[in-house]
Amino acid sequence: MNWYGRSLASAGLAALAGLGFLSAQAQAQAYPTRSITMIVPFAAGGPTDVIARIVTGHMAQTLGQSIIIENVVGAGGTTATTRASKAANDGYTLITGHMGTHAASVPLYPKLAYHPEKDFEPVGLLAGTPILILARKDFPPKDLKEFITYVKANESKVNAAHAGVGSVSNVSCELLNSILGVKPIGVPFNGTGPAMNALVGGQVDYMCDQIVNAVPQINGGTIKAYAVATAERNPSLPNVPTTAEAGLPAFQAQAWNAIFAPKGTPADVVAKLNAAIVKALDDENVRKRLLELGSVIPAAADRTPAALGTLVKNEIAKWTPVLKAVN
Ligand code: ASP
Repeated sequence: MNWYGRSLASAGLAALAGLGFLSAQAQAQAYPTRSITMIVPFAAGGPTDVIARIVTGHMAQTLGQSIIIENVVGAGGTTATTRASKAANDGYTLITGHMGTHAASVPLYPKLAYHPEKDFEPVGLLAGTPILILARKDFPPKDLKEFITYVKANESKVNAAHAGVGSVSNVSCELLNSILGVKPIGVPFNGTGPAMNALVGGQVDYMCDQIVNAVPQINGGTIKAYAVATAERNPSLPNVPTTAEAGLPAFQAQAWNAIFAPKGTPADVVAKLNAAIVKALDDENVRKRLLELGSVIPAAADRTPAALGTLVKNEIAKWTPVLKAVN
């Protein structure tokens, strides 16, 4: 069948589905018959947006339909996640969430309008993202030890950029600040894409962010990185020490991004989407782009919907006491 025949067939299936002539099972088998909306809960150009675009670009080829990214910003990603939780559970509206929207937000927002476990079907993990301690390039401290001394001495003057309460940048810097015993001024943005622009422009002092956002800037010398908060150095930034090497072993943080569907999305639809994620993560070009940006590609056992469900449960359990203590 040529493209015209295929699109006529899809249009026919979509029309039948719309009229209620197709059983749920037949609809799931035909899925997807039209484009899919992927909500990204932060501004374009940040880590969540970049990872979502890299992986869904390949998923769209596998699924034979376009995946349209919609950036919906606000409240540390929880505005978009609330919207996604209420979307039709037919596989045509999905969200790329992360450690903030689907774990840390639970203890931070007592009135959160969704629950990551009860209101979503986990679809699949896209990437792990180590956290870096970053600063504007002319911030006086030269290394992490000097940074610690400087921030402690100037705590009421220095500021830290983040992507809203509950975002990864907010939560991981809250953890860092509590280890250091400081309370700098927080400067919220709609995502760490715009926050990174402010760091490059020298309007803010420091930031804790997912590596994907930072590698091009660090390598271009437009910002500086004091340390990566993981046990090993990252291959994309061989000269950036770990927090343990730089003198702050207590600060360990790695975030993640993953796709979720509204609760009740048919299992066959979730399975099709998950298979498309797995195929994307095995694609040489997708892997190259993710690895160049420092992300960690999930191992096979971590790519299933069930594994993502377990990750969400464990991350809520991990971050709840940490964030209550920080507060
Ligand atoms: N990395 C951001 C965060 O702090 C969000 C983003 O712009 O992707 O959660």
